[in-house]
Formats: sequence, C-alpha cells, structure tokens
Amino acid sequence: MNMITNHPPTAELQAIDAAHHMHPFTAGAELAQKGARIIKSAKGLTLTDTEGHQILDAMAGLWCVNIGYGWDSIADVAARQMKELPYYNTFFQTSHVPVIALSQKLAEMAPGDLNHVFYASGGSDANDTNVRLVRHYWAAKGKPEKKVIISRENAYHGSTMAGASLGGMQPMHAQGGLPIADIVHIGQPNWYAEGGEMTPEEFGLARARELEAKIAELGEDKVAAFIAEPIQGAGGVIIPPATYWPEIQRICDAHEILLIADEVICGFGRTGKMFGSETYDIRPHIMTVAKGLSSGYAPIGASIVCDEVANTVAEAGDFNHGYTYSGHPVSCAVALENLRILEEEQMVENVASVTGPYLKEKWEQLADHPLIGEAQIQGFMASVAMTPDKAARAPFAADKGTVGLICRGHCFDNNLIMRHVGDRMIIAPPLLMTRADVDSLMDRAVKALDLTLAEIRDKGLY
Ligand code: PMP
Repeated sequence: MNMITNHPPTAELQAIDAAHHMHPFTAGAELAQKGARIIKSAKGLTLTDTEGHQILDAMAGLWCVNIGYGWDSIADVAARQMKELPYYNTFFQTSHVPVIALSQKLAEMAPGDLNHVFYASGGSDANDTNVRLVRHYWAAKGKPEKKVIISRENAYHGSTMAGASLGGMQPMHAQGGLPIADIVHIGQPNWYAEGGEMTPEEFGLARARELEAKIAELGEDKVAAFIAEPIQGAGGVIIPPATYWPEIQRICDAHEILLIADEVICGFGRTGKMFGSETYDIRPHIMTVAKGLSSGYAPIGASIVCDEVANTVAEAGDFNHGYTYSGHPVSCAVALENLRILEEEQMVENVASVTGPYLKEKWEQLADHPLIGEAQIQGFMASVAMTPDKAARAPFAADKGTVGLICRGHCFDNNLIMRHVGDRMIIAPPLLMTRADVDSLMDRAVKALDLTLAEIRDKGLY
C-alpha cells in the first residue's frame, strides 16, 4: 500500500506519527497523548484535515504561504523543472538557468544596491550565512576583530546554532548552550510589555539608543553588525513605535557597522510593501529572505547582499561556505513562479489598499473587547494582547501563556488557526484574502475571544 495515496484512518496515523515523528517546538509526550491534527489538503486560505474539518488558516502555514494554497502553475513548473534538471549544485564554477533567473529577479526587486544573492534552504541557514559573511567581510577589510553581532531580546532568527543565538529567546538559549560567542542582545521595542510610563515615542527612542550604548560599550572596532526583524514576528508581532527605526538607521549610519534586516516574515508583501525595509525606510546592507520567497511551495532562503559587501568578499578569494541545496533548481523555479503570481495578482496592493485597510479597521476594533489591552496591525500581520486589566497593561496572574493556550484551543475548535505567543494572539494570513474572508476570520476570532473570556472567568483566572 502507498500510505500517501491510500492512508489508514486518523487514529492509526496519529499513533504512527507519535511513534516515529519528532515534531519541532513540541512537547513530544504530550502530543503523543493528544494526537496530532493531520492536514490532508489545502486550497486558497482553507486547510482540510483527515476528519474533513475545513480550517481557516490565518497564519499562512508558518507565515509563509503568502500567495495561498493550491496554485496549479507552481506544481507544473516544479514538475517541468524536475524532469529537465532536478538537481545540480552551484559550487565549483557551475550555475544553471533557474538560479540565474531568480537572482536577476531578486536583484531587481530588492531595494537599494542589494544586487547579490547567496542561497540557503530556509531562513535559519541564511542567517548562519550572514554571521559568517559579515565577519569574513570585516576580515577582508583588514578588521578581523570586528566580529560581534548585536541582536535583540525576544527576536527570532532561526533554530540553527547561529540562528538561535542571534534570536533572543531564553527557552531556546537554555537548550544547547547558546548563544555562541560574540553575539549580544539589547532590549526590544515592545512598548506594551516594557514601556512603563513612557510614551511609545519616548520608548522607541530609548530602545533604539540601547544600540548606540552597546556599540560604545563594546567599542566600534569590535562590532560587525546589527540584525533585526522590521517587525518581530515569532516574538508576538511586535510593531515598533514610529520613532524606533529612524533612530536605529541614524545610529547605523553614524557608526561603521553593517545592518541586517531579517525579512523572513516581512518580505514579499506582508507589511503592505514588497519588503518591511521599505515600509520602515530601512537601508540594510543584507536582507535575509525565505518563507514568502516560495510561499512555502518549496524550501528556499537567501541572503540578499549589497554591492560593497559582495564585491569585497568576491575579491577576497574563496568564501568557504555553501549548502548542497544553495540555489536548488526546483526551488528557484518555484520561487520565480511564486513571485510572478504575487505580482500579477497584485497581492501586495491587496494588502496595502484593497483588503488591508478593511482588516485594519476590523482588527483595531478588537481593542474594545474586554479581554484585549492592545490591538496592533501592519499590513497582513497583526496581534492582540490579552489582559485582565487594560489600563495597567497587566499580565495575568496565571503562568504566562496559560490564557493564550486556552484561546488557541477555542480557535482550534472553531476551525481557525491563530497562534498564541504567551498571552498574545497573532495572525499572518495569506495575502489574497478578500473582505468576505476578513469577515469570516473576525467572526471566528471574536467568538474564540468570547469563549476564552467565559472560560477564564469560570476558572477564576480573570
Ligand atoms: N528569521 C525569521 C524572522 C523567522 O521568522 C524565521 C522563521 N519563523 C527564521 C528566520 C527561520 O527561518 P526557517 O524556519 O526557514 O529556518
């Protein structure tokens, strides 16, 4: 029997899954007891599981299926490429047509003089490339001591040793002896949780100036780069105060350090422009991209690098770095077709000026819900913070995430995928949503919040 085309019933699949499949970011024993939800197919915004539930995917998978599910032309392009050239590498003086075409396309799309692309299989290993690339760049400039990379608490930059080190997630650092050397963190621009009595504008400036203070503390001659997501994604969709990015850019301009924008989530339309760097007027030397580059139809990530860094590295002999799947021909062909669809269907315009403003209006109304202390949205990424006390922006007395998990359960039961980060609920839907989709999403979200409020009142958590 071919288990993929003719699979056993859900319970049996769940048992096999529990016995043999180790899930990422999951408590294995607990999952084995509950059994995984098994997704079978998807179209547009809707997932179908093996029990026939139709689920509205307001997270676009893991923030990646920007164009939505079910585009046949991508399957056709992938099949054609697999037949013509399923694999060849880009090492040792070799190239192929899909990687050349995609590189030209990305150089055209990327802002400024970001004209050079180094490929990876996803966002984490692209950030590993960045760590090695910026240190190698400074060594090539005769400054090998410029090695330290400054990142931020509650940032997410991946799960590899370097990616998780760049990230500022304590539970990740606690496993595996992280961070690796010469990576340090400053505070995040999360006004709601950490801004205290300051206005958001004051707090944005204060948090940006931590970068200048850290550069002064370490010595400019020791610092290679600063890395940040334009909007923190996995940290809870934290939209920085308006003062934050201009001040970060001023500081990066005033000091001899490289700026890396991790666009793995923000890239390819999610914030209402093609890149988050354009939304916030950031001028990075390197952008990390993945996810929306192929809308998840095939694994691919990349570092898009400016002329100065790429040319310096090119002059410096071998860059001793690369992955078997750097510039994989099928992934490149899929990415190109994905970008064609994204542009032809005007999905970025949909986020900016068609459905986006409607979603923003509806999402911001959630701030009136008794459970919600803050509703933030930029383009098609949004969050709400749940609180027992709106005025004080207070956390719940229960362990962080307890209420978030309850809310996620109600979403799950109502066939809506929203994610919880602590006690924030977040969405990042596919970019082809219509107003009717927004209405359906908001109905389910409000229902889940109402049920959460009722449950936590019952349990004395509110
Ligand atoms: N950077 C950011 C900003 C991300 O959100 C992610 C993934 N969520 C990564 C890097 C890592 O990407 P991947 O999971 O493709 O390795």
